[in-house]
Amino acid sequence: MQAKYLDKIIVTFVLELNKELITSEMSIDIQKIRSDFPILAEKIYNKPLVYFDNAATTQKPQVVLDKLIEVYTKYNSNIHRGVHFMSNKATVETEEARNVVQKFINANQSCEIIFARGATEGINLIAQSFGEKYIFENDEIIVSEMEHHSNLVPWQMMAQKKKAKVIKWEFTDAGELELDTLKNLITSKTKIIAVNHVSNSLGTINPVKEIIEIAHQHNIKVLIDGAQAVQHIKTDVQDMDCDFYVFSGHKIYGPTGIGVVYGKEHLLEEMPPYQGGGEMIENVSFEETTFNKLPFKFEAGTPNYADTIALAAAIKYISEIGIDNIAAYESELLHYGEGKLKNIPGLKFIGTAKNKTSVISFNIDGLHSYDVGMILDKMGIAVRTGTHCTEPVMIHYGITGTVRASFAFYNTKEEIDKLYDGLLKVVEMFA
Ligand code: PLP
Repeated sequence: MQAKYLDKIIVTFVLELNKELITSEMSIDIQKIRSDFPILAEKIYNKPLVYFDNAATTQKPQVVLDKLIEVYTKYNSNIHRGVHFMSNKATVETEEARNVVQKFINANQSCEIIFARGATEGINLIAQSFGEKYIFENDEIIVSEMEHHSNLVPWQMMAQKKKAKVIKWEFTDAGELELDTLKNLITSKTKIIAVNHVSNSLGTINPVKEIIEIAHQHNIKVLIDGAQAVQHIKTDVQDMDCDFYVFSGHKIYGPTGIGVVYGKEHLLEEMPPYQGGGEMIENVSFEETTFNKLPFKFEAGTPNYADTIALAAAIKYISEIGIDNIAAYESELLHYGEGKLKNIPGLKFIGTAKNKTSVISFNIDGLHSYDVGMILDKMGIAVRTGTHCTEPVMIHYGITGTVRASFAFYNTKEEIDKLYDGLLKVVEMFA
């Protein structure tokens, strides 16, 4: 290629890059956003908090805290079965929250949205109920090697109960799942594939749409664990065509104790209830019970309506900022962070997939992840250390754990600079 054309391409590329940076910086008003999260003003050991433990749980904006207070001070009342004003109000707000979630992940109908305690309970619900109906002796369940324990153990339990097998889909050393490997694992016995949308310990964004397409060619169902995805990237369950999708409220700026299970209506209709009790019934005599329609069939007992309503407030809040703006800004943080941290002597990244979001996992030669985390803590910097509930990932790399810095859209490049300075000090201390 002639040099003059090369120059032109480089100039255009730089202009495009600048345009992208300007766009994402302009669409995120970071000072305003930070002021929405009261906890970010806290001091830890008299130092400003740098919160990089967002993959474990996210902080809550004032609108979510206000919503919880609103529920408990204005219309707290058990839902669905009351005739009085407050019960009706709480019921309407809860069902409106279901519509908010439906719209957010683009489910076809609100009855396909089931509220559970979190992603963990959601996966247990699917494993138990789907497994009860469709998994039999010698059947196979493909689970990726990079799953959080909550998307592995429920399948192990189901497999044990039904004498089925859990098949490991290994990832590459970069932390990527390869589709050809999957194709070789599929057999006529495969019933379901369980895989995360984004890995919590590696940050990999998995090619879920392609995975689902391959699975469906073989009439295999797919459960996507979206616990680390919905808060970072656009989620469209119809476009993906997944059979099941789960996520946790507390990782998407909502309260703890609430999560979402999406399932295709015809599958949920065919599957048996997960738990028995109030709400999930249609009629009960001492001898037998008929079950309620969707989604209530899967929501036994008094639902966590207060946190459900506050989850909707969190989803509305991030939707106003725009998930695409969040994704662009967080991608900028990730690349800035990786660019900075690679200069720390002896630092090795764990998880170097091409397509990543918001997670930097690493180790430093000769240092234990706990020691690194504890010293950073004294500087007011919160990171997570250890296995991140993904022991098979650690076994893959032959390590005991990693240090994980995970970002949210309220983090800044200045905070990443503090992490960098902190790590340099850690390295100096142990030198
Ligand atoms: N799946 C992934 C990928 C996660 O990162 C987590 C939590 O870290 C979970 C599932 C479990 O979420 P919860 O503990 O909120 O149920």
